[in-house]
Amino acid sequence: MANLEGRTAIVTGASRGIGKAIALELAKQGAAVVVNYNSSPAAAEEVVAEITGAGGKAIAVQANVSDEAQVEALFKAAVEALGKVDILVNNAGVTRDNLIIRMKAEDFDTVIDTNLKSAWLCCKAAIGVMMRKRYGRIINISSVSGVVGQSGQTNYSASKAGLLGLTKSLAREYANRGITVNAVAPGFVLTDLTKDLPEDLVKQLNTVIPVGRWGNVEEIAHATAFLAADEASYITGQVINVDGGMAM
Ligand code: NAP
Repeated sequence: MANLEGRTAIVTGASRGIGKAIALELAKQGAAVVVNYNSSPAAAEEVVAEITGAGGKAIAVQANVSDEAQVEALFKAAVEALGKVDILVNNAGVTRDNLIIRMKAEDFDTVIDTNLKSAWLCCKAAIGVMMRKRYGRIINISSVSGVVGQSGQTNYSASKAGLLGLTKSLAREYANRGITVNAVAPGFVLTDLTKDLPEDLVKQLNTVIPVGRWGNVEEIAHATAFLAADEASYITGQVINVDGGMAM
């Protein structure tokens, strides 16, 4: 399958986990990829090496995507290197879990800034570039926690639910300009983000996943790549739950 030939993509937080799998999948389908990272340069360069080693095109660009100036620099670097940005995947994200009575306001701010404000900043930068070509695919990586809520994640769930509102509003703003905006809401996937979840929570989660197992990063990447393709042109403002049936 090579339906992204000639397309260019920015994937935020692509040095590890789900973002890495998305970058690899978009590249496998023919897109040139900007592998954004914040604090893992070596891991990001490994992703680039994996893509170029397979005959694809990729560059790594450092940017803390919760910072407006760094987001502007990221898009400038992408356009300078690849000429345009057709696909944006807002994937960068963090957790700072705790019960609300123990959660510090700074943990709320960090999660909202990294997961939600970052996506707003990247969407704003992307729209400016995509409008010129009257073409764009924006995919926001939300979460089942943003769809149905999760105890201990008031900050994270709020950020991920916020992404759904951002997705639908932006989809309406640019639906008639060839730009689609959708969200993918993964269920539980084993990555650095989830590897330290308390054992009792993991056991409890396993009982509420209808397919009976956690997802893997490739399953999230496939849904994202589908929404990034030309063939998804009539899908906008939607949320695809890739969660083994958790949110139905
Ligand atoms: P992960 O393994 O912890 O990776 C997080 C990625 O985000 C890293 O590449 C990290 O880059 C990047 N990042 C963090 N803060 C950043 C910032 N300020 N600027 C730029 N990049 C930043 O997490 P993951 O599990 O793959 O999660 C990826 C996305 O999927 C997140 O949005 C997460 O909320 C969502 N999600 C995950 C699950 C799950 O079960 N894993 C479920 C639902 C949704 P550096 O390494 O360079 O810092």
